[in-house]
Amino acid sequence: MQKPRLLLHICCAPCSAHVIDLLKVDFELSAYFYDPNIHPEDEYLFRLEEMRRFSRQTGLPFIPAEYDPDRWFKLTRGHENDKEGGERCEICFKMRLERAVQFAKENNYNYFATVLTISPHKNATVINRIGLELSEKYGIKFYTADFKKKDGFKFSLQKSKKYGLKRQNYCGCIFSNTQKHGTNPDRTKRKRF
Ligand code: SF4
Repeated sequence: MQKPRLLLHICCAPCSAHVIDLLKVDFELSAYFYDPNIHPEDEYLFRLEEMRRFSRQTGLPFIPAEYDPDRWFKLTRGHENDKEGGERCEICFKMRLERAVQFAKENNYNYFATVLTISPHKNATVINRIGLELSEKYGIKFYTADFKKKDGFKFSLQKSKKYGLKRQNYCGCIFSNTQKHGTNPDRTKRKRF
């Protein structure tokens, strides 16, 4: 029997490894990379290429979307000083998930989902609420989950090691980077497995 098609929004390769293993059992997956929150551009390109390489390794169709950071900055204006987990993140989740559901709708997917809840820093209740609102708006099913549960985050670390993936040291936007590492952060300090 043919599996339902699911468009999986991906923020970076290390966060995707365990979620892909879980979902590929029941779905025909495609990896969708829409992350204009990632700054600066060389960091975006690093994460994009790491995911392209990992998709090739796992045999997953890889769909990179446009990189439009200007739109991200416009939408999050006024929230530069929000702490991670605050309103800026809600706007950021919604922007990325809405682009994913639009692509899913245009390309006849049965479901859309995101790997974002694998992170211990991400609130699954907020992400699932946004996903369900978009599901209602666009008429495509959203796969609700909290992937960090049942040792999900621990497995994601183990799988990053297994697949040789590099984990960055900040969430993605320039504000999360400076809040964590100060005004002159060293983005090259990725954890190497
Ligand atoms: S901290 Fe992460 S989720 Fe929050 S706005 Fe920045 S990139 Fe988006």
